Amino acid sequence: MEGYFKVPDILIQTMAQIVGAKNVITGHEEMASYTGDESPTSKPHYPDIVVKPGDTAEVAAVLALANQNKIAVTPRGAGTGISGGAVPIKGGIVLSMERMNRILEIDADNFVVVTQPGVRLMDLCQAVEAEGLYYPLYPGEKSAFIGGNVATNAGGMRAVRYGVTRSFVLGLEAVLSTGQIVRTGGKYVKCSTGYDLTQLLIGSEGTLAVITEVILKLSTPPGMREVLWVPFTSLQQAIKTVPQILKTGVPVIGLEFLEKDIIDMIEQYLERKIPFSENPAFLLVILEGATSDEVYESANRISEVCTTNGAVDVYIPTGEHAKRELLEAREKMFPAIRRYDPIEVVDAVVPRSRIADFVSHVKGISIRYKISITAPGHAGDGNVHLHLMGKGIAPDEWESKVPEMMNEIYSAAVAMGGTISGEHGIGYEKKKYLHIAMDEHKIDLMRRVKAAFDPNCILNPGKVFDL
Ligand SMILES: Cc1cc2nc3c(=O)[nH]c(=O)nc-3n(C[C@H](O)[C@H](O)[C@H](O)COP(=O)(O)OP(=O)(O)OC[C@H]3O[C@@H](n4cnc5c(N)ncnc54)[C@H](O)[C@@H]3O)c2cc1C
Repeated sequence: MEGYFKVPDILIQTMAQIVGAKNVITGHEEMASYTGDESPTSKPHYPDIVVKPGDTAEVAAVLALANQNKIAVTPRGAGTGISGGAVPIKGGIVLSMERMNRILEIDADNFVVVTQPGVRLMDLCQAVEAEGLYYPLYPGEKSAFIGGNVATNAGGMRAVRYGVTRSFVLGLEAVLSTGQIVRTGGKYVKCSTGYDLTQLLIGSEGTLAVITEVILKLSTPPGMREVLWVPFTSLQQAIKTVPQILKTGVPVIGLEFLEKDIIDMIEQYLERKIPFSENPAFLLVILEGATSDEVYESANRISEVCTTNGAVDVYIPTGEHAKRELLEAREKMFPAIRRYDPIEVVDAVVPRSRIADFVSHVKGISIRYKISITAPGHAGDGNVHLHLMGKGIAPDEWESKVPEMMNEIYSAAVAMGGTISGEHGIGYEKKKYLHIAMDEHKIDLMRRVKAAFDPNCILNPGKVFDL
């Protein structure tokens, strides 16, 4: 591989001594599941070797060896990323964090959990809930690892109220490419002591260091949750209602918008009907409160606002099962869309007040290029997930039109004061569009930061920006 060396046999043996022979994979077939992620456009790339360290010292030893021998290392969580971040495009080593899967401490007095990076989000949520605590992050994919969530700064449906992963991480342990172990932050909320390296590592997509331990802030469980499903006669009408909902001051936890085309796909995927699915557009509103009276009050207030702003109806499911079914419908959106290959995913973000303009601009692009675009999104935080749908389009037409459309879409998002990724990251697949969001000076500053952390550039090379 250009600029990087293949892993020689002698080093494979040394790796096996470090992590144990059964934690090193070199067989082509066994490595297949480490060659890609969930990005619909990324092609499989084989590493020379998959290494599964069991603790921080093993991570440090593997990295030091790779660094001395200029071997590319791709850190890997659960491989649920949508930007090709965990794809080993330069071969070398895939460093899989799957064995570092222990929750180290749940500290109820300080409201923190200390965890290894290979713990699945769903397991962490369950474990803290068993102790009467709450980790609110709520992305669509709960089998992602905590380390992957931190490395991509994952968001999800509750960001409007609680923020994204960045808002919860109090401290990290990470290993630099040289094998040096660094600790940042701690079990405290305030810190005004030097540069904030914790925040720098969050969202760095495995390009600066390998995260080996995470300290997360917890809160108390919400008590009651209510879900409102609100059909509208148009997407514009639905989106225009969003600021009115937020201006009520009611603590809205999640606020999503979807259109009928996606609802049809979800109905087919789940093989069940979704209430009011004959309507063109929908808002999904998630509320939390300490008591049932409190959420009931909030739900009434939101219903009133939606009705005044042209909602066809307001459906409030009764019973936990019906609520879960509605939330599940939203959670399954991506797998439902993913079945219609080829697709291209956009994760743009704009100021909340510009969502309606942005979506209407995108619809114009869709008509001009004769390629349909679905436009769901996190209405509460301005994060719009577009899907360009290629079914029935000739492959060469698709290949030539998509980059042009993506350029136009991203340029519009940036012109409206937004940026090109809200939560999925840049990885490999969106790297060619980074210049739309960042000028060369800023990218060059990131290159210099990268050089300070990873002088031989062995960590996740070819991701986020070119060196
Ligand atoms: C159905 C579906 C729904 C989704 N919904 C959402 C959503 O609502 N919100 C959202 O934000 N994302 C969503 N995602 C994307 C994905 O789940 C997140 O990006 C997640 O954070 C990736 O975690 P992972 O463990 O799978 O990481 P991977 O895909 O394995 O890796 C992602 C990146 O992190 C790096 N990395 C992983 N672990 C480490 C580590 N320990 N140290 C350093 N770098 C590391 C990798 O090198 C790579 O660059 C969704 C994905 C799917 C398939």
